[in-house]
Amino acid sequence: MTSARKNLFERPSRTKIVATLGPASNSNEMLQKLLFAGVDVFRINAAHGTQKDFELTVRNIRNASQKTGMPVAILMDLGGPKIRLGKLPNDELKLETDGTVAFISSKFQAKAETCPELAGIPCVTCSYEPLVNELRSGDRIVLADGSVELRVSEVAGKKDQWAKCAILCGGKVRSRQGVNLPGVKLTIPAMLDADRSNAAWAAQNGIDFLGLSFVRNAMEINDLKNLIAENGGTSKVIAKIEKPEALDALDEIILAADAVMVARGDLGVETDIARMTILQKEIIQICGQYRRPVIVATQMLESMTHHNLPTRAEVSDVANAILDGADAVMLSGESAVGEFPEETVRMMHRIALNTEDAVNPDDFRFIPLLTPFNQVLEALAQNVCDLAEQLDAKFIVTVTETGDSAMCLSANRCPARILAFTSSDETLRKMCLDWGVVPFKFPKSIKSNQSVMKFALDTLRSEELISSGDRIILFAEASDNSSQNAIVVYEC
Ligand code: PEP
Repeated sequence: MTSARKNLFERPSRTKIVATLGPASNSNEMLQKLLFAGVDVFRINAAHGTQKDFELTVRNIRNASQKTGMPVAILMDLGGPKIRLGKLPNDELKLETDGTVAFISSKFQAKAETCPELAGIPCVTCSYEPLVNELRSGDRIVLADGSVELRVSEVAGKKDQWAKCAILCGGKVRSRQGVNLPGVKLTIPAMLDADRSNAAWAAQNGIDFLGLSFVRNAMEINDLKNLIAENGGTSKVIAKIEKPEALDALDEIILAADAVMVARGDLGVETDIARMTILQKEIIQICGQYRRPVIVATQMLESMTHHNLPTRAEVSDVANAILDGADAVMLSGESAVGEFPEETVRMMHRIALNTEDAVNPDDFRFIPLLTPFNQVLEALAQNVCDLAEQLDAKFIVTVTETGDSAMCLSANRCPARILAFTSSDETLRKMCLDWGVVPFKFPKSIKSNQSVMKFALDTLRSEELISSGDRIILFAEASDNSSQNAIVVYEC
């Protein structure tokens, strides 16, 4: 084992790190560096790039994983129905507070200049053509990441024309910037044609996780799950919580999804930014009650995009997300376009290591489960964790084909590290998102649980991860009717 890899296996952070890829990070060399620095999941933002680009990135990620021997999952984040401003003259427009601006349909663009109702009013288009027909007087529109606020004051009597807006809070806007409509019910679907095509591609290409943006209800999650199945895929669905509608349907969305992301970028625009901390805590807590892994995302180490050190507030933000119970913390622009992608991942890893010992397992172990994920495994996992604590075990080794036992163990926030052995490549990668779980592979030719346990112990010995006197709890999940759940205490 190389020393960098050994260090990471001996002392990986239990909290998983998701790093968004972009020009700063998708080279072969940088991908390997980021894996050694502690990345568990690489995120491809499908809002940028083509399927040809994704194909190359996926190939590079898999090469890097093979070269370093470090398992890594891939999350493809679908752009979803994000509405964007159209092209602006000179790509920029200053909107004056107390002034007026009009959204116009692109069909009406040529006529807008001579339209008497729009005389002297700056006009903008957007990527969602029916918007001008669906807006109503009083609707709130937010631009430029929340810094510009508009209120619809008048809409044209005819279809496909214009909607005038009062500028409540002015500022500069740029071409292609996001348009948020907090609380406005639009008929735009959760997945646009490009999202459907990217999701089908992801399912066909073994992408581990698919992020669904701007989710509003469980049906939208189920629709994506059906699309994945129709394309022969097994990708898990991550619900991005970023709309007020999603907060209203939180339980059904979390239950329908395989994992959740607190997408604070858009959530901070669609809801009052001042509520962010409490919303984050509430979402994480409900995810715990349904046993769904949860990622906290956006602006975690934002200042490291251009500096080699984070602010004190950012360090606290990452640490507090971990204390709240986040399974993973995510980097966006910091790793995609930043100047210090490797340093940023290292910093996140250090913050996680310095915080995790303060996580109190009792805060998580006794969370009342709303829908037990698997009652038998839950009970066994809780007992395995108790046993590990009583016996001061160094590792819990679990043998799992589905990843279910690893997920149940993870949810107990046990101080012993969880080494999860599987023969399935898919499960190996999916477990990259589970807090405290280090995934290992065993050959498919090994059949019985007993032989897998022997293989696991041999691996730990040969990798010098255990020494004389260490205690290990072995927990094998029943994989079919012929094998049974088994718990064994092993003393080295
Ligand atoms: C977010 O809004 O926080 C987020 C992660 O989504 P995106 O980066 O796609 O805007």
